[in-house]
Amino acid sequence: MGSVKSVKIGGLEFGGGAPVRVEGMLKTPLEDLGGCIAELDMLRAAGCELVRAAFPKEELRENLRLLIERSNLPVMADIHFNYKYALTALDCGCGSIRINPGNMGGRGGLMEVLSAAKFLSAVIRIGSNGGSLSAKQLEASGGDRSLALVAAVEEQLIPLMDAGFDDVIISAKSSSVPETVRANSLLAQRYPFPLHVGITEAGPGVDGAIKSAVGLGVLLNQGIGDTMRVSLTGESVMEIDTAYAIQRALGLRQRGVELISCPCCGRKRIDVPELVRKVKSLLPNDLPDGTTVAVMGCEVNGPKEAAAADLGIAGTANGFVVFKKGKTVATGEKQDLERILARVLEGA
Ligand code: SF4
Repeated sequence: MGSVKSVKIGGLEFGGGAPVRVEGMLKTPLEDLGGCIAELDMLRAAGCELVRAAFPKEELRENLRLLIERSNLPVMADIHFNYKYALTALDCGCGSIRINPGNMGGRGGLMEVLSAAKFLSAVIRIGSNGGSLSAKQLEASGGDRSLALVAAVEEQLIPLMDAGFDDVIISAKSSSVPETVRANSLLAQRYPFPLHVGITEAGPGVDGAIKSAVGLGVLLNQGIGDTMRVSLTGESVMEIDTAYAIQRALGLRQRGVELISCPCCGRKRIDVPELVRKVKSLLPNDLPDGTTVAVMGCEVNGPKEAAAADLGIAGTANGFVVFKKGKTVATGEKQDLERILARVLEGA
């Protein structure tokens, strides 16, 4: 489903029914150009499709230019408080910028940014964040934070629409799942623009991943959201992996291998967590997207539970059994595991 309107950044379509794009963010400051390039390469290898970089000062112009020149991903510059930085970012070749039209130096500054973006066919992302809602916005919404998020987006969107600028992506994020879901549902009903969705400051590790999965899962499952970023306290690549895991779980996009593993009950014949680690390390990088690999603790239920898996392995009394689509293709003893698995995986 997705938004009615679509935009293009670096030739890649966002919205209008295009696949839900996976965005990443450089956590390395732009001062460290080498570190940014290394991080960008890792994000790209993980499947990132648009990378956001903070551009907080004019002195970093050359680094931004070099980053864009070197990047094989479209870059979105994140600009605050100075419309001149937005002009610089566009001049450096950014295909998209994230701004708050309210702090672009008044109408004059904003109009300059809009005309440069229009001339360069650049996309502008605007949006609200639960952490920066003002007392005035909250009061005007009667304390309803979802409505305040929507109103804050509209405050930014209206000047752009009045100026006839519509290559826009909008977003409303909060660290609260219910607030974010409701705000985005309202925005999707009211506006045709692509929606960038995310749960902001979701937190670390499992908690952050679950919060993101619940919030984004609810939205994406209703066809709301055209581009997503998972926000975790941790490595930026983890955010990309989590975004794809969410899309995989919803059956939206398949990237890489889907690993299925059992929770290990009292019947287990093999150390499943250890085997999962081993299988992961042995999987070739070029397996087709969507290949399913199952790791099951026992042969009683394992092969049947994972009958649909392209490749599976289950523990037995003496070792293990390897199966493809439920059919046994190899058996072995524990000490043969790595050798047999490598042989089977080579032919997978
Ligand atoms: S596959 Fe076997 S060990 Fe794993 S949960 Fe099922 S019955 Fe238990």
